[in-house]
Amino acid sequence: MISHDFDYHAPTTIADAVALLSRYGERSAVVGGGTWLIPNMTYGAQRPEVVIDAKRLQLDRIFEDGDDIVVGARASYGHVASSGLIRANVELLAVMSSGITGGPQIVRQGTLGGSACYGNPSSDVPACLVALNARLRLCSAAGRRDVAASEFFLAPFVTARRPDEILTEIRLPKQAGSVRTGYYKLKFSTGSWPIVTAACLAEPAGAGHFALRIAIGGANAIPVSFETQAPAQPRADDLAGITVGVGDLIISEVSDEFAGSGYRRTVAPSIVIRAIRMAIQGDH
Ligand SMILES: Cc1cc2nc3c(=O)[nH]c(=O)nc-3n(C[C@H](O)[C@H](O)[C@H](O)COP(=O)(O)OP(=O)(O)OC[C@H]3O[C@@H](n4cnc5c(N)ncnc54)[C@H](O)[C@@H]3O)c2cc1C
Repeated sequence: MISHDFDYHAPTTIADAVALLSRYGERSAVVGGGTWLIPNMTYGAQRPEVVIDAKRLQLDRIFEDGDDIVVGARASYGHVASSGLIRANVELLAVMSSGITGGPQIVRQGTLGGSACYGNPSSDVPACLVALNARLRLCSAAGRRDVAASEFFLAPFVTARRPDEILTEIRLPKQAGSVRTGYYKLKFSTGSWPIVTAACLAEPAGAGHFALRIAIGGANAIPVSFETQAPAQPRADDLAGITVGVGDLIISEVSDEFAGSGYRRTVAPSIVIRAIRMAIQGDH
């Protein structure tokens, strides 16, 4: 049970939503699927005076806009995982969304936008958005701005979203059909939070090589990413060479009940190698 009083609004337009945010700012919270906000309010970790429910803002659509696929901030994991547009153009998002735990409630109710705004470093979403060069569209009474995913996640549970802004869309550049996807996560058990995740996008670059874009989640306070190349048939020492600097990217290592200091930094190269193999050799 939520023990503190709050006002509830369910605006039907973005203009009304941002007017509320402009008025109440830090005293308010937008609710997406509520799978994080409501439990947090129940045990007092978040105590907004005003709750602004996004459910009537029609932010759950997934559509094409020129070279982008647009995922509304309220699109659920289930919606993303089953979208033909997502599978055809940004497969990594479908792969990631299909692997979310928590059962049907989380899959149907948890949203990509809510996860991004919460900024939990252990979530699957932030690193995948960085890998995909996503842009997050934020609206306020002053107008709108797009923030690159690589600049959106600032620290654990801290994002570039200002208190008077609502996330409305996540915009993802469409990928060429030749891009291959690998996504691997190391977990303590099936239902526990990921310890380290690695997303790999591999695009044929000629001369028997792939251009790789790799993002690592769960290990560092914010996602880290890098680009490199790999042969189409990499040997173990090729992969070891590619991942030699991975540990050094993890400058603010996450440490928790699943893994103490140093563990994530140590295992990250192996997790990256698995994601690369999944992408270019189809090792699933
Ligand atoms: C049992 C369980 C299992 C889970 N398993 C996984 C897993 O395997 N992998 C994983 O990554 N995550 C997992 N999660 C976390 C899950 O991804 C998040 O709970 C969910 O994505 C959050 O989305 P939401 O819409 O419910 O957010 P909400 O709870 O509605 O909101 C979260 C935060 O974001 C803010 N917010 C929400 N929408 C907006 C918006 N449009 N604009 C501005 N601010 C907004 C809220 O104010 C709040 O601070 C799990 C959670 C549970 C409870």
